[in-house]
Amino acid sequence: MSHVFARNSRSHPPRVSHGEGCYLFDETGKSYLDGSGGAAVSCLGHGDAHVAGAIRDQLEKVAFAHTGFFTSDPAEALADRLCTLAPGELDKVYFVSGGSEAMEAALKLARQYYLEIGEEGRSRIIARRQSYHGNTLGALATGGNAWRRAPFAPLLMETSHVAPCHAYRGQEAGETADAYRDRLVAEIEARIQALGAETVMAFVAEPVVGATLGAVPAVPGYFRAIRELCDRYGILMILDEVMCGMGRTGTLFACEQEGVSPDILCIAKGLGAGYQPIGAMMCSGHIHEAVAKGSGSFQHGHTYVGHPVACAAGLAVLERLVDDRVLNRVAPAGDRLRAALEDRFGQHPHVGDIRGRGLFLGLELVADRDTKEPLDPGLKVHAAVKAAAFDKGLICYPSGGTVDGKRGDHVLIAPPFIVSDHHIEELVDKLSAAFGAVPALNG
Ligand code: PMP
Repeated sequence: MSHVFARNSRSHPPRVSHGEGCYLFDETGKSYLDGSGGAAVSCLGHGDAHVAGAIRDQLEKVAFAHTGFFTSDPAEALADRLCTLAPGELDKVYFVSGGSEAMEAALKLARQYYLEIGEEGRSRIIARRQSYHGNTLGALATGGNAWRRAPFAPLLMETSHVAPCHAYRGQEAGETADAYRDRLVAEIEARIQALGAETVMAFVAEPVVGATLGAVPAVPGYFRAIRELCDRYGILMILDEVMCGMGRTGTLFACEQEGVSPDILCIAKGLGAGYQPIGAMMCSGHIHEAVAKGSGSFQHGHTYVGHPVACAAGLAVLERLVDDRVLNRVAPAGDRLRAALEDRFGQHPHVGDIRGRGLFLGLELVADRDTKEPLDPGLKVHAAVKAAAFDKGLICYPSGGTVDGKRGDHVLIAPPFIVSDHHIEELVDKLSAAFGAVPALNG
């Protein structure tokens, strides 16, 4: 009997033995092509010697020193680099251990900022349906994934949810992308006014929606229009790039492709690339300054804030991405992967949409391509695809988001940036074999 509290208590997973490049191996020696980096984590693949070496070096110097007493070389260097590379005025970094913690810090900093500048009335959050911002209570309350929220609803603070920008589902027949964008932005403005602009603290969104929708970017100009709304009403824009950031979409930060810079930006997953648990909340100088000049310190903290070994790993990851130009591989490899997916699944009767950016791609699975009717939720097709793919030696990240109240199935593909053509071919072959093994996708 295992004493590990498994993620899914009905089954016990195989034991991972080691990883190498784009592959993981279990205790029996079976190999798995890591087609999703877990959940878009392993951007450098497995066994990266530079990152491992940086971790070892830091461990030999000092593993831990509490940030109540010290800063450290790796934390300073990583913050410097992130701020140099980030768009806009993001120039302070608060290091945490993962994505949910980054979101909690973002929400609390936003609230404290308004207290510091004497706008105590601002506490409301506008976020989007079918989004995911983490599983801690504040992040879960902010997210709009109905299924994840439901059991904990009595524990969740109030959040005002608006429609996501999801052209495949939301753009009406005959409606142009611009008209769709304007309709969504008008809904947000109406919501701000209905809540009372002076009570709204933040607008929160993932630039490319990951877990809940499966790699869905917004239509052109959507985030620029929201940036303008936020500025007009004095509302902070918080972007959650926990999944889509750190190069996943082809630029280091996904918001660069939207031409906007948020007031607060959250990153995690790819920052540590799986080598260490680390996340970060970045904020504009004026927010930090308001706190520094006001009460003097951010009323927040966790034991492992700014952990030196985690920061050393993050710095080494950034060196690989930027100095070794691994980041430059994302856009061309993403184009090749997308072309291969379109070639193989573009006419598949149960693949309704292939979308995404860079090496962050999603396939939406449907009952009927023409009507876009979702598959019967009772069939749990996403779970069947995950199991069939795993059985065939492919790790992908299928999920069942919600499509206007109904469950929808999609598969997220997010391989390491070091993926090469033969990996792409293997990925598509194995995914195709997995689809072939799921009865609902063969009717
Ligand atoms: N935000 C987004 C967009 C995410 O995808 C995730 C994780 N899937 C989180 C926040 C939460 O991150 P973590 O699991 O590291 O707490």
